Amino acid sequence: MMHNHVADAVLQQYAFDPGGLNEVDSSHIRECSLCLNRAETYRSIFHGIRTQPAASFDFDLSKAVMSKLSGESEKSGWSPWATFLAFVAGILVLATPSYIYRKSLYLFIKVHATDMAGAISTTVIYLVLTGVLAISLFQGYDLLRKYQRKIKRLNYY
Ligand SMILES: [Zn+2]
Repeated sequence: MMHNHVADAVLQQYAFDPGGLNEVDSSHIRECSLCLNRAETYRSIFHGIRTQPAASFDFDLSKAVMSKLSGESEKSGWSPWATFLAFVAGILVLATPSYIYRKSLYLFIKVHATDMAGAISTTVIYLVLTGVLAISLFQGYDLLRKYQRKIKRLNYY
């Protein structure tokens, strides 16, 4: 009986759940020092597998969460200011050329209105004005979006 030692799979099962074995195998393990020794080795290995990663994960997780929280709270105090500054800069960048454009466009309107005094030129001018305004708005929106994307990237890294 002692010559037929329990298979490795059964020893592993015993180490994992001692109550889940049949009576023949469990009594052999209890009586055979070699099998009991091997079962204990498996048990310590399983115990190590079960406890070690959990402990290291808990430590790393709390550390990562704490650093993330402190990092974000620092950045969130800085981010609205950067967004505000970007908004003001965007307005200035947009307002300056559009103001210049408006002046020259006004001159253009004045010159052509006196030259032709036609409804066609006025319509064209309105179309040009609308186009310039639309392009300026789109460029402003795009600039703001690009800046916000950059700020977001800065927050993540
Ligand atoms: Zn044995």
